[in-house]
Amino acid sequence: MIDRERIAVLRADEERRFVETHPKSQALAEEAGESLLAGVPMPWMTRWAGSFPVFLESASGARLVDVDGLEYVDLCLGDTGAMTGHALPAVADAVARRARQGITTMLPTDDAIWVAQELARRFGLPQWQFAMTATDANRFVLRFARHLTGRPRVAVMDWCYHGTVDEAFATLDGDRVVPRPGLLGAPVDVAQTTAVLPFNDLEAAERRLAAGDVACLLMEPALTNIGIVLPEDGYLAGIREITRRHGVLLVIDETHTLCAGPGGATSAWGLEPDLLVVGKPIAGGVPLAAYGMTAEVADRLREPMLGHEIDVAGVGGTLTANALALAAARAALSSSLREEDFALAVPLAERFTDGVASVIAEHGLPWTVQRLGCRAEYWFCPPPRNGAEAAAAVDEELEGLLHLLALNRGVLLTPFHNMALFSPQHSTDDVDLHTAVFGEAVAALVG
Ligand code: PMP
Repeated sequence: MIDRERIAVLRADEERRFVETHPKSQALAEEAGESLLAGVPMPWMTRWAGSFPVFLESASGARLVDVDGLEYVDLCLGDTGAMTGHALPAVADAVARRARQGITTMLPTDDAIWVAQELARRFGLPQWQFAMTATDANRFVLRFARHLTGRPRVAVMDWCYHGTVDEAFATLDGDRVVPRPGLLGAPVDVAQTTAVLPFNDLEAAERRLAAGDVACLLMEPALTNIGIVLPEDGYLAGIREITRRHGVLLVIDETHTLCAGPGGATSAWGLEPDLLVVGKPIAGGVPLAAYGMTAEVADRLREPMLGHEIDVAGVGGTLTANALALAAARAALSSSLREEDFALAVPLAERFTDGVASVIAEHGLPWTVQRLGCRAEYWFCPPPRNGAEAAAAVDEELEGLLHLLALNRGVLLTPFHNMALFSPQHSTDDVDLHTAVFGEAVAALVG
């Protein structure tokens, strides 16, 4: 339905406009190429829509200003790391205060207790530990799960993403577990470490988990990293029943699904995980993640936790749980991501989905827009039921054009997603700007 040549022509126009309007970013990108591999501080920054990344000057609330002085409505929000909105005053103050009192010492502070109690209240799990990133938290949880069960494999959902966790870079090719396309330098064949389940398929889960070799199932309660794929009625209850019956620990990764409310989907949908991971925005943008567990899991981990060699047990990080990150988390969790914040952000996401859906309907396109709490995402296919269906509809050329066109008109979307995230600091005007830009893009495409 979409003419490929038209995409290419529009893209070339947008690329010219991007280069013309971003001279300072371009100059910095050239300078960066001399000392930064591929001109970026870390690999995925090469994936921004323009031919070089926009260099940031400042970000506040829902706005971002680049070094050329251009302002953007930020619908990316650091891919969830800034879901609270940027530069929360309470977090900035707490960070400044703590920075003057010592940042990292290897000693606990009372902020750690406050944050653990708050996470327990939100997610309904009594015992917590911290990690630097959600990736780290997932790695630690997988290690604990293998230790507790004595089983070698972990299960994940097809087309999941849980950070740079080796075991989770696995997809299905028919019935075979294969490395996810793009994976570099895998330590071992993922078929040896991982079982992969298609989302929304209880029979497949029953069949695979019955084999008895899986320590835990690590999953998002709704897939959010291959578009948003919502669980069908009864699916999550079925997964809980199957995992319990087969002695498989259920690990819910709420790092993105925290968008469903203050206690994530776990609280919103009454889930009962054995372990839960949450990261990204919980310290208002300062790196911190946490993992919680039931009293039963905690009891079983007490002995290894007190072992003489726990410092070399494979669960570590010198800077982890530092005083600065926990001060930031206390400030963030007491001033954001609360019921009253979601009450402002969720209607904005609803307005976004209504706007995008009306453009899709106006042009009779077979596209979808999906929402979970304050996160929304559109997709170039009817609603996918699982990750493989969603992955089959990826259209990088089309996505690249839509992102660059939006960027050139002051709207920042997350790279490698058609995702928009809303904070209480966004306004209805921000949403309507995106709807207008999306409408202009689609009209230009379908002509
Ligand atoms: N879990 C989920 C569900 C994620 O989406 C991500 C990152 N997108 C991670 C974990 C890893 O987070 P981080 O990159 O901050 O370690």
